[in-house]
Amino acid sequence: RKEQLQLLASVEAVTKDGYRVRLAGNISSVKDLEQAVKYGAEGVGLFRTEFLYMDRDTFPTEEEQYGVYRQVAEKAGGHPVVIRTLDIGGDKQLEYFALPEEENPVLGYRGIRISLDSKELFKTQLTAILRASNYGHIRILLPMISSPEEIREAKRVMEEAKQDLADRGLSYGSNVEIGIMIEVPAAAAIADLLAREVDFFSIGTNDLVQYVLAVDRMNEKIAHMYHPYHPAVLRMLRQTVAAAKEAGIPVGVCGEMAGDEKALPIWLHLGVDSLSMSPQSLLRVKHRILNSTLREGQDAGKRCYQLSTSEEIETALTEYLGKDP
Ligand code: PEP
Ligand code: MG
Repeated sequence: RKEQLQLLASVEAVTKDGYRVRLAGNISSVKDLEQAVKYGAEGVGLFRTEFLYMDRDTFPTEEEQYGVYRQVAEKAGGHPVVIRTLDIGGDKQLEYFALPEEENPVLGYRGIRISLDSKELFKTQLTAILRASNYGHIRILLPMISSPEEIREAKRVMEEAKQDLADRGLSYGSNVEIGIMIEVPAAAAIADLLAREVDFFSIGTNDLVQYVLAVDRMNEKIAHMYHPYHPAVLRMLRQTVAAAKEAGIPVGVCGEMAGDEKALPIWLHLGVDSLSMSPQSLLRVKHRILNSTLREGQDAGKRCYQLSTSEEIETALTEYLGKDP
């Protein structure tokens, strides 16, 4: 079965009735990218750059970061590479950068909040990414956004980074797109307002589920309450995708839900543009797409929106999955 799946690596992810879904990889390193490519990823939907900053004693320099981003851009073979700016805090710490002790780290100093508070650090990363954009199709993704002001401030730092590069006589890709993670409920609630400010959305279901349901994703005691298929989550997804479509910008999903075959009817119903997942999930999801039809999948996804509990929705999706040959 594993060998059979591997044969699908070079096959396009198209439903039986001809609807194409773009499948990309979530990576943390160049090695992950090699695996994603092996499993047929069409580029990188999420490069978690915090791993460049971990297991070392100092912040990575612009040169070091540039080296890695450039390699990723080149190895992606012309496909888009979405590089997420540093998302530390919450559950991810750096040994050499003391973050404050917090009562609620997940609701605290993390992601874009740290970047906008440490502008030199942020600018160094953006500069490295911009330089690498000469070598492939790079997009920049901002984590933990909850307001238009944060996007505007981040863009100001990006303009400074571009100016610095120009002053140094260095070039960068002329059209590097900038997008945001939709992973804070506030962002989903004002997705229409945020869509005016950016070139694309990427829905981070891991955090979105945790925040919408007020269920800590790391707390085992309440793990049974962490329900990606909760109707409240489904509504947030619908609202976000609708806002993106209204604004004419692409919207993808990059949380764990994207790699869960069961969720495919939801994505077909909502019409998301791409799914990004851990490399290990790519072939399974592709197999599922190849054995689905857009029409039936959309119907199954639509029916989920008429159900009132996570359990009903998950059961319906599991039963639908079971029909697959
Ligand atoms: C998410 O929150 O869904 C996500 C993709 O990012 P991370 O898991 O790195 O927080
Ligand atoms: Mg997240």
